[in-house]
Parts: sequence; structure tokens; C-alpha cells
Amino acid sequence: MNPVLDTPITYLKGVGPKKAEVLEKEAGIRIFEDLLYYFPFRYVDKSRIFRVKEVNNDSTYFQLKGKITSLNAVGDKRTRHITAKFADQTGSIDIVWFRGLKWVKENIKPTTEYIIFGKPSVFNNSFNFVHPEIEVFSEEENPASGHSLEGIYSSTEKLKNFGLGNRGIAKIMRQLMLLLGDSISENLPDYIISRFGLMSEKSALQNIHFPKKTSLIAKAQTRLKFDELFYLQMQIILNKKITERKSAGFVFGTVGEYLNDFYSNHLPFELTNAQKRVIKEIRSDLKSGRQMNRLLQGDVGSGKTMVALMSILIAIDNGFQTCIMAPTEILANQHYNSITKLLRGLRLDVALLTGSTKKKEREIIHSGIESGELRILIGTHALVEDTVKFKNLGLAIIDEQHRFGVAQRAKLWKKNLKPPHVLVMTATPIPRTLAMTVYGNLDVSIIDELPPGRKAVKTIHFFESKRLRVLGFIKEQIKLGRQVYIVYPLISESEKLDLKNLMDGFANIQHDFPPPEYLVSVLHGKMKADEKDYEMRRFVEGKTNILVSTTVIEVGVDIPNASVMIIENAERFGLSQLHQLRGRVGRGADQSYCILMSGPKLSNEGRKRLEVMVSTSDGFVIAEEDLKLRGPGDLQGTRQSGLLDFKIASITKDSELMFKTRKLAEAILEKDPRLNDGHNIIIRRHLQKKFSKTANWGKIS
Ligand code: ADP
Ligand code: MG
Repeated sequence: MNPVLDTPITYLKGVGPKKAEVLEKEAGIRIFEDLLYYFPFRYVDKSRIFRVKEVNNDSTYFQLKGKITSLNAVGDKRTRHITAKFADQTGSIDIVWFRGLKWVKENIKPTTEYIIFGKPSVFNNSFNFVHPEIEVFSEEENPASGHSLEGIYSSTEKLKNFGLGNRGIAKIMRQLMLLLGDSISENLPDYIISRFGLMSEKSALQNIHFPKKTSLIAKAQTRLKFDELFYLQMQIILNKKITERKSAGFVFGTVGEYLNDFYSNHLPFELTNAQKRVIKEIRSDLKSGRQMNRLLQGDVGSGKTMVALMSILIAIDNGFQTCIMAPTEILANQHYNSITKLLRGLRLDVALLTGSTKKKEREIIHSGIESGELRILIGTHALVEDTVKFKNLGLAIIDEQHRFGVAQRAKLWKKNLKPPHVLVMTATPIPRTLAMTVYGNLDVSIIDELPPGRKAVKTIHFFESKRLRVLGFIKEQIKLGRQVYIVYPLISESEKLDLKNLMDGFANIQHDFPPPEYLVSVLHGKMKADEKDYEMRRFVEGKTNILVSTTVIEVGVDIPNASVMIIENAERFGLSQLHQLRGRVGRGADQSYCILMSGPKLSNEGRKRLEVMVSTSDGFVIAEEDLKLRGPGDLQGTRQSGLLDFKIASITKDSELMFKTRKLAEAILEKDPRLNDGHNIIIRRHLQKKFSKTANWGKIS
């Protein structure tokens, strides 16, 4: 590539060690290359000079020509600032400076004609400009005659203090472009450039910083997004191949007795086609000789447990131990119960290990696991403690993967000399674009079909004013024999306040639903495990009509008779959480309902979320909407990975381009895995450079 790009930024004129330091700290700019790829986030047209009376509030930038008619220092030592009147023939407007006062006093002259440029703000009912760009007007450099389109670079307070506001950055950028001149090299082969009708790299970089025409900006952006996404996909695919090559896995070659017996004699229902397909995918991984690393996505209620169980039986038939790790005790319990029930006819022991397992029981489990006698262990993160020593763990299943940290998962991974096969199950659908990047080194299986006979949950949004109607509806449903969840959100960071919110709600509910006619359970995170268990069991057994709780019931809890889910302050929940909660109902044969209660005032985003919930029950659609509303930054695990620190592409807006580049990358590596072909050498060189810079973000699970 071009070694000039590795030059430290201090080689630019006017960038001394101090400026270099803030540039690196505030904007990650250390060498020429970093600066070159620091793109404007918007563009303004400076070809036009406005008149003062035209200044308005539509949040755009204005360029004005005029004179300073007065200049006043205001305020005392700490609040000192300068205000000036700037006037043209049509009127005058205030300019305010809080910094650089000395410079202003020494340089701004009343007779000189100036060009100012900035975004007006409103103060005391009139417009003013705070720290506008200001320069002496000169006929030759009349902005209307030169480059009219100007990129706006993002800057920070600190950068501005060092003269590196938008203007300052543009200035060093111009210097850099002059310096680089023709030496900007191409990083894509010709055949790709012509096939996709792309601009050259050099032209794209020139136009992204100093566009000659508006139409060229979009072309430049497309080209640079293409680069970014294409090389990201290349890296991901190659990384996956490297990991695969390295991780030999146990070969589960036989279909044995347990699986056959279970399949022929104990299957409680016919598998859905999606379940069959996924089990096939898992089986082919398990016998492939390389370690399985698979993400199983399936909406709540899609039947992931059955898939897990059948995978477990394959492992046991091949002489190995297995485990399922769940994020909460309630869930671990539930897995334990359903797996035990499914295995009733099979003479296979299942053990449950959680934080509340008694010492004696725990010791028995430890020794069973160490001797290899115990072959199915279900539990919470208690499973990864050092005292748990598997004899030969062959398959580790992790439920609701986003609840576990990467380190925790890795710990499980290291329990053997050879890593076990890993199946990660999640009910939170991951948008395709994310699956392709953040989870790009996992194989993905999707259960996209619910077991037959499920009725879609009716979802309704009510404002607080309709509460009486909702209470009446709950009573009706209870009369029909159904059970009801009422969920309260996290209101604040303070557990105390959240608990108070829940307990206030609980008191209201008890008032509206008095015993003995109605019985109410309550469940929250602060309760002791056995209290939780007790309350939960009463609800599971149908002894109480209503379960009031915080989001502890969010994941996985399965009670078919509960058919109404009331979510209080629904506007406070995120989309995926709402979807998870709704998944608690609609598990039995009855029509189920999800009622979203909200206060009267909704933010735009809050309103949008509730609309999405009412309009669809498709987890993938909801996940896409969630990504659009929140952006990827908030999604679990994405921030640390750094994979989504795009310079120009957007995971939400550029999904089409991402699919395109993915396909291209796959096709290229399929044909030329080592990138030895003459026309691919340029790709190889570029990748080598990239790989040398990024740490290997190898194994995610
Ligand atoms: P999840 O994917 O949310 O973990 P579960 O495995 O808990 O879903 O399954 C939800 C419910 O559907 C369970 O009661 C399970 O017994 C039932 N179920 C799973 N697969 C089928 C199927 N193929 N046909 C009928 N019911 C099924
Ligand atoms: Mg489940």
C-alpha cells in the first residue's frame, strides 16, 4: 500500500505535538491515513451569500456578508464574553464570543467587510451566531467563485480550543490532499470497480472531502462504504475459516440407542419442519470433525428445548457429557423440569446445579460429573465454577446467549482439552446485518416456524385513562379460568425505587382484586430464591390468578394457562424486551392478549415502539425495527467488539450494500481462497495490512 499514509500527523504544517495529542484523543487521528478517512458528516453550499433578514430557524447554516458595527465586552471575570452587532443593508444580528476574546479585540475592525458563516441560535427571541466562522471578505477569494460545497467535520470542544473546529480540520485536510496528490492508491481490483460501477478510490477521497459537485458526494460515499463493508466481510469470512481450521472437534458419528428410542417411543409431538431442518444442521456439524459453533435463533415458543434435547441425546449416544447453561435460576429450573419430563421413559439422570443447590447435593453432582456417570447437567453460571470438572464434556448448550459475558462463555469452552461443541440458543432474533458482522463467525440456524395451533397474541395499546376498562377485562378473563401477568418496568437505576414502584402496583392490584375472590403472587429480584420459587410455583400450579412482577419473568417462563400479559409503563421498555414479555403468553390453546399500558405523553420513539408491537408479532421484523430505532451501539456485545465502528457505512441504512459485498466476498474466496489470482493480489495486500492492524477478534462464544 502507500507507506506515506503511515506518516504521523505532526508532519503537517501547523500540527505540533499538542494538536497531535488532542487529535488522537478526541478523534483517533494519529497518522495521515486516520485523517484521510475522517469524513465530513454533512455538506453545506457556500455559493450563496444570504442577507441578514433572511436568517431563519430551519437549522441550516447561513453565510452573511457585512460589517461589525459595535463590539462590547460583557460580564465579569468568570462570565466574560464579547457581543458584537453584525450588519448588512437589510438589518443586523448579534455575534457572541465566549472564547478567544483577546484575538477578537485585536483583530476585528469596524471598517472591514467580513464573511461570517454558522448556524444561528435563538436568544431572547432573536437570532444570534455563537462563534461563527469569520473571515475578511476579499473579491479574489469571494466564496461564491471558489469551492462552493464544503464538508462539515465533526469536532469537539477540546478540538475547537486548539483551533481544530470544522474549519481548522478542513484546513489540515486540504494540506494533506495536496501532499498526497496522485499517490492515493486504488484498493479494489478493476473488475470489481467496473462491475459495480464504482468511482476510483482517489476520486472518492477527493470528493468526499472537497466535492466539486453535489452529485459526486453520493458516488464518493457509495464507493467508500463499499470498501468498508467489502473488506469487513472479507475479514469476517477469513477469520471464520482460520478458526475452523484451528478447532478440531469431537466426531459424533453414531446415531445411537437413546436418540432412536426417544424418537420412536417418547416424542410427545410431531416436530415442525423448522425443528427437523435445524436438527439436521446440528447433526451434520457434530459429525463433521470440526468444532460446532452454532447460534440457534428461534422466537419464543418456537421449540428450541426439543432441539437442545435431541442434540444432547446425540452427544450421549457418542459417549459424551452435556450441559445446558441458563442465565437465571428460574430458567435453569424450567429447563431441568421440561428435560426431565421429556426423558421420563429413558433412564437417563439429569442434575440441576445453581447457586442455591445445597452443599451435600452439590458434592454428589460434582463427583458424578467428575466420574462421568452424570451425563446431563443443567444450571446457571454455577456450571463454570472451577469446582465443576467434567470428565468429557462434548456439548455445551447456552440459553439466551446475550445474558452471558464473553469471558463466562469462554470459561465453559476451556473445560476440556478439546473444546466441546457449542450451541448457543437465543430467542432474541438478530437482524441479518448484525448476524453477518458481530456474530459473523458463528453458524446460524433459524427456527422460523411456530408449532401448529398457536393463535397470534392480540396486542392492544391503552392509555392510562382506560384503566377501568382494562381491570374489567382482567376480571372477565379470570372468570374464564385464565391467569394474568402484570409486569412493572425498571423505573430508575435505584433498586429501591423500582421495588417501591412494584410494591405500589402490587398494593393497587390487591385493592382491585381482593381476596378471597382473587389471589395474587408477587415476584421480584430482591426476593430469596425459595420465596421466588414458592410464589412462582403457586402461579404455575394455578393457585393464584395474577402474577405481579418485574422483568425477572422476561425470559423463557412457560405457563400455558396464563393468557393475559399486562405491561405497565410499556413505553419504558425496549422493543426486544416487550417482545420477550409478550412471548410469555400465547402458549396454550386459548386466545391470548398483551395489553400495553402507557402514560398520556409519549416520546416519538416510545410511540413508535408501541406501534411496532401492535402491528407485528414477527420477532425478526421487531429486531430490525429495534436496530433502526436504537442504532447498533446499544445492542449487547456490539460495542465491545468494535466491529461496528464504521467510518462511513451504517448497519441500518446500508444493509443492501452489506448483502451485496457479502456475496461478492464469498464468491471471491470460494474461487480463490488464498487470493493468489493476479487480479486479486490487490485485495490480499489490502487485507494483510488490515489484519496487521486489528487484533484478532476470533472467538465470540
Ligand atoms: P422456546 O423456543 O421458547 O424455548 P420451548 O422449547 O419452550 O420454546 O417450546 C414452547 C412450547 O411448545 C413447549 O410447551 C413445547 O412443549 C411446545 N412444542 C415445542 N415443539 C413443538 C412441536 N413441534 N409441536 C407442538 N408443540 C411443541
Ligand atoms: Mg426456551
